[in-house]
Amino acid sequence: MPIFDTHAHYDSSGFNADRDAVLAALPAAGVELVVDPGCDVKSSRAAVALAGAYPHVYAAVGIHPEDCGGCTEADFDVLRELCRHKKVVAIGEIGLDYYWKENPPREFQEQVFRRQIELALALDLPVIVHDRDAHGDSLRVVLDYPGLRGVFHCFSGSPEMAAELIKRGWYLGFDGPVTYKNARRAPEVADVTPLDRMVVETDAPYLTPVPFRGKRNDSRYLPYVIGQLAAWKGVTPAEMERRTFENGKRLYGLE
Ligand SMILES: [Zn+2]
Repeated sequence: MPIFDTHAHYDSSGFNADRDAVLAALPAAGVELVVDPGCDVKSSRAAVALAGAYPHVYAAVGIHPEDCGGCTEADFDVLRELCRHKKVVAIGEIGLDYYWKENPPREFQEQVFRRQIELALALDLPVIVHDRDAHGDSLRVVLDYPGLRGVFHCFSGSPEMAAELIKRGWYLGFDGPVTYKNARRAPEVADVTPLDRMVVETDAPYLTPVPFRGKRNDSRYLPYVIGQLAAWKGVTPAEMERRTFENGKRLYGLE
């Protein structure tokens, strides 16, 4: 059964010691597809380079809200240029992050978010949305663009918000926190999310699932996420693996 890690940062410095060994080991562990999203121009370039080097790796390019301070039109030009690479499958990760006080001002984050949504629409690509403590504003922004499609990565909103997004064709990403004992909203969100709209992600090197919480995450731990989702949805892990693999391919146009 194939696994699709739809969101993993293998360009991160957390993999500097053994990046090639980890990436090369994934197919044998059943991980047949990975999307590596960029967080700024530098990591977007790095993600594209990894996609060029590994048949099972694809890239997204984008500027993360935490890293958007000082970004300019020249940066968006670079992103647009990177999208000419045939293995760039999305714009991301982009969005709003109100968690960290030192983040760029909300108004600027929103401008950068909208600018990149417009780029995705112009290039007919899906977006990978990062929404941390900014649920109302993230929903308001994406609903301004009826043709927009994509995924809410590591979705942490309410079941009502999930239902709103699903109605409009969005996918929801589920990560390691679904395995944490205090996962409160996640089972309710899983409950309202149809099997054909769920994708699984590591967000590696972050968000490691139980029982490896605290260690560095990589795609080989995804079966723990898949197992928890399968239990919540009342299907076998093999069925959940198959469905999330198909959904990931549909989301990123890899069919
Ligand atoms: Zn991420």
